Order: sequence, then structure tokens, then C-alpha cells
Amino acid sequence: MSMNDHWMQRDLSVLWHPCTQMKDHEQLPLVPIKRGDGVWLEDFDGKRYIDAVSSWWVNVFGHANPRINQRIKDQVDQLEHVMLAGFSHAPVIELSERLVKLTPAGLDRVFYADNGSSCIEVALKMSFHYWLNVGQPAKKRFVTLSNSYHGETVAAMSVGDVALFTDTYKALLLDTLKVPSPDCYHRPEGMSWEAHSRAIFTHMEQCLAEHHHEVAAVIVEPLIQGAGGMRMYHPVYLKLLREACDRYGVHLIHDEIAVGFGRTGTMFACEQAGIRPDFLCLSKALTGGYLPLAACLTTDQVYQAFYDDYSTLRAFLHSHSYTGNPLACAAALATLDIFEQDDVIERNKALAARMASATAHLADHPHVAEVRQTGMALAIEMVQDKTSKTAYPWQERRGLKVYQHALERGALLRPLGSVVYFLPPYVISPEQIDFLAEVASEGIDIATRDSVSVAVGNTLYPGFRDPG
Ligand SMILES: *Cc1c(COP(=O)(O)O)cnc(C)c1O
Repeated sequence: MSMNDHWMQRDLSVLWHPCTQMKDHEQLPLVPIKRGDGVWLEDFDGKRYIDAVSSWWVNVFGHANPRINQRIKDQVDQLEHVMLAGFSHAPVIELSERLVKLTPAGLDRVFYADNGSSCIEVALKMSFHYWLNVGQPAKKRFVTLSNSYHGETVAAMSVGDVALFTDTYKALLLDTLKVPSPDCYHRPEGMSWEAHSRAIFTHMEQCLAEHHHEVAAVIVEPLIQGAGGMRMYHPVYLKLLREACDRYGVHLIHDEIAVGFGRTGTMFACEQAGIRPDFLCLSKALTGGYLPLAACLTTDQVYQAFYDDYSTLRAFLHSHSYTGNPLACAAALATLDIFEQDDVIERNKALAARMASATAHLADHPHVAEVRQTGMALAIEMVQDKTSKTAYPWQERRGLKVYQHALERGALLRPLGSVVYFLPPYVISPEQIDFLAEVASEGIDIATRDSVSVAVGNTLYPGFRDPG
């Protein structure tokens, strides 16, 4: 038995994996990873894979990065953890100071959570509670965009729009208002991203005009709807949204959990619209992909609405056991150091251009509807029919074929349904990008050459993080 098989068998007898139909592993081998090094992951049989999706979008400076490793090692000998109520520590203070400086002016307070989903819960609760504290209890609903994803916990699912969740867990969800996404994949032919994003905004304007008295906040994934298939839109939408939220007295929550820290080409996506949200949710790349940590930044105005004598019971009494963990904060500080010292945002421009040129030929592929890109995220949408953009029925699991081919060739390229995408660590080389483009092209050829459709029932892609 190979070492991979040995670990796989032990794994499959005790583990239940995330976002996985476990029965798939009767056919699909699990890949046990022994070590990481830069963009590479190495399994127990010595085979290496380029991590083209940054291990679910978290890793930005490679696996086992020496600079991040050292900072964590130093921290663990000093202080591994202390509760953050009544106590504090240097890494969390330093990190908060740096996040306040790094983000748009006016985001002056940082509240910590342990992961992206719980960070969304914090933002939703804080917004709702703010309106309660200022005497507007009617403002308790949230406005979301179609095709959104904001996490897996129940309130986070409520503001998301992934069919699998909204169908299966409908009975558990909050009552939200949903407006059409500015997603430019669906723009009329010949229309620019900007014109389309601007035109779609009328739905948001209408919703706010009608419901603002009962709305606490609008929540969006700025510029890229990640889990919804790496769908993209123009920053003008965010600008219009900021203006409307101000006009109607509604909070704006930016979920930059996936897009923060350089993914869209700027440190934060909101910079491209020149705006400041009322809540900015950060996680994933915050710790360079090392440890779970999330930060919800907000304004002094929100903070002051909770600041009062204890007896008024206005405090935000929300807590997670590992809030502001020192090891995670140390990893985050090392990550921010690298951004600063290596001029990463500037250097990424050449890598983003290479991603574009290496995949440009795929736009002509008979089963590719679109190759789209925002900064360091590039997506290739496979379709059954190019002209009408008719999607492949999810039951055909075309993305899975790309995934399997890529594994054979030494790449971790896990699609979202029929959307193949690159979201690589920023330490990837131009040659490695070319290699990924080659593997993706081969995979797409293999996945689309069989044109027989076996569609039955609902053909809309049901789930997130699922190669289909
Ligand atoms: C991943 C993600 C989340 C959830 O973060 P977790 O740490 O996985 O709970 C929320 N919002 C967006 C936009 C994400 O991509």
C-alpha cells in the first residue's frame, strides 16, 4: 500500500470532510498532504501540486513561509493565548493599529472573531444593535445581492444566495431583501462593465427607497462574488451604493473576507470605488493563510452608540473564546510586513498581466463563454453553448474532470461548478502561471469534448466550494 493510501484509509474511517459528499471518495482519492513549500504542496508519496487556489483563498505568501514561521515561533514562546475581555496583549494591539491605518479613513475600531462566517455575524449583529441603541428598532432587515456568499453559519447563510443553502435550510433563515447582482457575466452584448453595473443599480435604489425605514444594512462582496462563481462587477456600483446608503440612512457592510489583502489589485476592494463602508469584514488572507482570525472594522459613530454606563445595557456582549489569538495576530503582523517590505501590490501587476496573457487564447474555446479577471483573480467559465451562454447541467460535473486532470498534472485547481479559476499565492512565478494555464486548457478540452447532455431536473449549480 502506498503511503497516500495508508493515510487515506485512516482518514476515511474517522473524518467527515467539509463541503464533501463523502461517498465520492469511494472513487475519488483523497490527497493527504505531508508538507508545503511556497506554492507547492507535497503528498505522502512525494508528488507535488501547485496550489492554484491558495488553499481556499487564504494563502498569499506560500506554504511554510520562513518569515511568517519565525514570527509565530517567537510568539509561541512568549504567549500562546489569553482571553481578550479584561486582558490584552501586544500582537492584538499592534495589529489593530495597523489595520486602522491601512484601511480607509474613518474605520477606527476593530472587533475580532475567529473566522469569516462569525465575522459576518458580528457585523450583522452590530448593525442591528446600533439601530436599536439609537432608538430605531424597526431597522432590522438586511439587503443582499443575488448570487452572494457570506459564510456558513445561519445568519451568514441568510444573507447569502447559494441555492443549496437557501433551499435546504430555508426554514432556519432570516427574512432578507434580495436585489439583482451587478454581475457582468449577464450584461447585454456590447455593454461595458461600468454601464451594466450602473444600470443594475436601479434595483438597489428602488429597494432602498421602498424599505429603508426597516433596513439596518446592505451587505455586499465588493467587486468579486467569489463562491457564486468568481462573478465580477465594476466599482461604480459600490460608489452608487455608498451614496444611496448615506441618503437613506442605511449601513453598508463590505465583506472583503475573500477579496481583501490585494486580491482585486488594490489592498482592499473598496479603494477602487474610493469609499469607506460602515463595516469592513476581513479574514482569509489576514493571517497569510496560517491561522483562523477575522477582523470587523467599524466607525467611531457605531462604537459610540454602544459606549455608555453599564446599567444602560447597551454594550456589545458578543465573544468568542479565541478572540484575538496572539499566534494568529503574530501571523497577521508578519503578513502585513511582507506586503510592506516587498511592495506586493505593485509587483502583483506583472503577475496579473501574465495570468491574462497566458489564458487569453481560451476566450476562443468553443465551450468557454468568458475569461474574466479582476487583479489576482481570473476565472474561465465553461458552457454547453457559447453563443447563448447556456450552462452545463451541474449533474454532469464537468468541473470535477478539470480538477482530476489538474491533480494528475500536479496542480490543485479546484473549480466552482463549471468555473475554472486561478487565485494563486502572490509568490507564484510567471512560468508557474504559464504551467497552470496549460493544465487548465488541457482540462477544459477533456471536460468539454463529450457534448452529450444528461440533464435532468434543476440544472442550476447547487453548491459552493464544490468542483461539481
Ligand atoms: C470564505 C468566505 C466567507 C466565510 O469565511 P469562513 O472563514 O470560511 O467562515 C464569508 N464571505 C466570503 C466572501 C467568503 O469568501
